[in-house]
Amino acid sequence: AIPLVVAISTAVSAQNGLLIRNRTAFEESRKITTLLFDKTGTLTKGDFGVTRIESVNPEFSTQEILRLASALEQNSEHPIAVGIIKKKKETDTKIPQPQNFEAITGKGVAAEVEGKQIEVVSPGYLKVTNIKIPEDAYRDAAETVVFVIIDKKLSGYIALSDEIRPESAKAIQIFKKNDIKVMMATGDNEKTAKAVSDKLGLNAYFAEVLPDQKVEIVKKLQDQGEFVAMTGDGVNDAPALAQANVGIAVGSGTDVAAETADIILVNSNPQDIANLILFGKATYRKMI
Ligand code: ADP
Ligand code: MG
Repeated sequence: AIPLVVAISTAVSAQNGLLIRNRTAFEESRKITTLLFDKTGTLTKGDFGVTRIESVNPEFSTQEILRLASALEQNSEHPIAVGIIKKKKETDTKIPQPQNFEAITGKGVAAEVEGKQIEVVSPGYLKVTNIKIPEDAYRDAAETVVFVIIDKKLSGYIALSDEIRPESAKAIQIFKKNDIKVMMATGDNEKTAKAVSDKLGLNAYFAEVLPDQKVEIVKKLQDQGEFVAMTGDGVNDAPALAQANVGIAVGSGTDVAAETADIILVNSNPQDIANLILFGKATYRKMI
């Protein structure tokens, strides 16, 4: 049966923007009972525009907050970074070079700029460091907010908006029809996660999740008897992809996440997973 499976999975991948790295992944896909999606770039487009820049420290103007954040973000490939740099370049293309740049998994970015220690970070990171989130940070449920810390002091924040992919709703209908629960685990804030979840009618969502917590979520679902497929990107998702019964890496096939995954979702399109599952079920029904 193996050569047939290989032949079929090769055909499926060729048609559907999937790379199947693991011979059994195609067979396993029909057993999936829970799909755990990441949000940014998979259920959503991952195309961010800046909607608001706020300062909460009178020493720094909003322009200065954007300038310092941009110094770090020019070295990051995260969709949030791309959105921030786009905004900066609308008015001014002069961006200072940072020193000792670091991208920290699930947290954001850190570096020195002009002698100041700058961090641009997630809400989950603020929570673990006990920094209080400003009250009006989440004005719009659709906004993603990153926080700018200057010399250890929360000094401002940048809000961005992304859009849900039109293909996500269609894919989720197919999963539901096949009794597959659809969930989302994201590093983004609670409000935005809930808005996406409500709009798509997900079975559950997990917000402000740090990378090691994604592994725990997968394990817990497995303990409850679920056969879990998970999507993720980047180095930070690799342990959870390895823990999942079917690990699906999103986007480019060059990073660590792709190496630990069973399947690579080349176009980040959830509908390709729906097609894979339908095709897998149909194929094995015929064979038995
Ligand atoms: P998701 O789980 O939605 O795919 P990520 O794991 O990629 O999100 O990122 C989690 C969070 O970490 C983001 O929502 C953001 O708050 C923060 N983050 C990651 N990279 C950056 C960056 N380059 N600049 C600012 N914040 C970042
Ligand atoms: Mg991600």
